[in-house]
Amino acid sequence: MAAGNAIRGTRVGSGPIRWAERGEQAPRRSITYFCVNGHETSPAFAAEITPPATWDCPRCGLPAGQDEQAPPQRPQPEPYKSHLAYVKERRSDADGEAILQEALARLRQRRG
Ligand SMILES: [Zn+2]
Repeated sequence: MAAGNAIRGTRVGSGPIRWAERGEQAPRRSITYFCVNGHETSPAFAAEITPPATWDCPRCGLPAGQDEQAPPQRPQPEPYKSHLAYVKERRSDADGEAILQEALARLRQRRG
């Protein structure tokens, strides 16, 4: 039941909105964040804390910032690398050639 637990887990402590649900009158202020896709979100923070510089956009999940004109850029994904690319990084072409020749020689020996 790992999947069920994961889903329930996301509901625990669902963020600043809970403060309003509890009806507490602690001073709050809304900070508006803008993501690079043009979404706006305005979570409320307790007045005495410093709001974080960025907030995850609830619509697209990208980091959102307080400057509408300069939202945080979408994080660059790691460029995809094939297994061969990793192998080539570790071994020079000469090494590869030597290994290939060795393997061929072994094959020929086995065939007699
Ligand atoms: Zn967004």
